[in-house]
Amino acid sequence: MDRPIKATLREARVHNERLVLATIYDGGRASRADVARLTGLTRTTVSDVVEGLLAAGLCREVGRGPSTGGKAPILLEVPDEARLLVGVDLGDRVFTAATVNLRGEILTRVDVPSEDSDGDVALGLALDLIAQVLDACDGPILGIGIGAPGLVDTGTGKVIQAVKRDWRQLPLGEIVAERFGLPVHVANDSQAAGLAEHVFGAVRGPNLITVKVGQGIGAGLVLSGELFEGDGFGAGEIGHTVVDPSGEMCRCGRRGCLETVASARAVVNQLAALSGRTVTMDQALADFRSGDPAARQVVLEAGRHLGAALGALVGALHVRRIVLAGTMTAFGDEWLNAVASAAAGHALAALSEDTTFEIGRMDDIVVLGASALLMTRELGMTLRPLHPERRPRWPDATNDKTPVQSSALSGRTPVGVVAEKGGVPG
Ligand SMILES: [Zn+2]
Repeated sequence: MDRPIKATLREARVHNERLVLATIYDGGRASRADVARLTGLTRTTVSDVVEGLLAAGLCREVGRGPSTGGKAPILLEVPDEARLLVGVDLGDRVFTAATVNLRGEILTRVDVPSEDSDGDVALGLALDLIAQVLDACDGPILGIGIGAPGLVDTGTGKVIQAVKRDWRQLPLGEIVAERFGLPVHVANDSQAAGLAEHVFGAVRGPNLITVKVGQGIGAGLVLSGELFEGDGFGAGEIGHTVVDPSGEMCRCGRRGCLETVASARAVVNQLAALSGRTVTMDQALADFRSGDPAARQVVLEAGRHLGAALGALVGALHVRRIVLAGTMTAFGDEWLNAVASAAAGHALAALSEDTTFEIGRMDDIVVLGASALLMTRELGMTLRPLHPERRPRWPDATNDKTPVQSSALSGRTPVGVVAEKGGVPG
C-alpha cells in the first residue's frame, strides 16, 4: 500500500466534515437526513460528523422541522458567529482590518492611512492594525485572511512582488502567523475581491469574474466554484497586459499597460495633463458628473479600454457574469456602459451577448474576500455543493477508533472527532 491507511482515513474524515459543514451552512438549516441525502454520505457517518461539529460549536440544533410521517427531524444550523474571521485589506491608500462573521457581516473595523509607507514600516503598520483588531475581538477566532497588493503565492502566503510597498519575496503569511499564533491565508487583493462576491454575494453561480479597477487593475477569476490562480498564482493580472506599445510608461517598467489607460491613476493623470493642474479623484468625479467634456472623454475612453481587455477574457472563458469593483466604479452607469459595449465589440457575439456587467455593491470587498479565503481554506465552506456528481468519492470510513484532531476545522478550539462504528473503507 502506498499511503498509510490512517492518513487516508484522516483525509476522508476531514473531507466529510467539510462536506457536512458546507451543506448545513449553504442550506441555512438542515436535518441529518437532509445532509445525508445531499452529500451521499451514510446516516451513520453524518451523525458522527455532526457530533464533532456540535462539540466544537460549529453547528447547533435549532428545533424540529416538518414531519414527513415519522418523528419531526431535528434541524441543524451553523451559528453566524461560530467562528470569527479577521479580514485585512492592505490597500493602496488605507490598511483596513475587521472582524467578520461567517455570513460576511463586519462586526468591528479599524483602518489606518498607508499611502506613504513601504518596506518594514508598512509591514509594521499592518501588524499593529491586526493586533488592534484581535485585542478588540470577543469570540473564537478562526484565523486571519489578508488581501495584499501585487503578486502573491497563496499557497505559502508569500508576497512575491508588490512594487508600491517595495516588498519582494516577503513571507507575509509566515510573519503574521508567527506573531499571532493563528492560521493565516494571503491572496492578491483582486483575487480576494472575487472570492468576496463568490462566497458572500447575492447571486451565486459556478463562474464569476470580478475586476477591481482602482489605482491598479486586476481580476479575480472564480471558475467552476474555485478561485483560479493559474500556474504561478498570477491569474487575473490583466493590469499589465500591453494595450498600446507606444503609450505611457507604466510602473512595471513597460509602456502602454492597461493600467496606464484605464485605472483611476490614469484618469487623474490624464486630466492633470489636460488642465495643467493637480487633479484629485474627487475633482475628477465632480467634473464628470457636472458634464465637463474633458472629464467625460477621459473617463469613458478609460472604460472602453477596460472593456476591450475584458472582451478578450470573455472570449477566452465565456463567463457570463462580470462584477466591477474599485474606485473607478464611482463613475457609475455611463462608465459601466462604456465598458460593457466595448467588451461586446471585442468578443464573439455568441459569447458576449449573454454576458452581464454590473457594479458590485459590497463595501470593504477585499476585507470580505480575505475573510472568505480564510473561511474556505480552513473550513471548506464555499457556496452550495456544486456539481455533486463531480465531487471525488471518498471512502465512507468511520471504523478508525483513534480520535483525530482535525486541523481543517480547528480554529482555536480544535475539533476532536471520535469515530464510531461504520462502513469499511473501499
Ligand atoms: Zn505595467
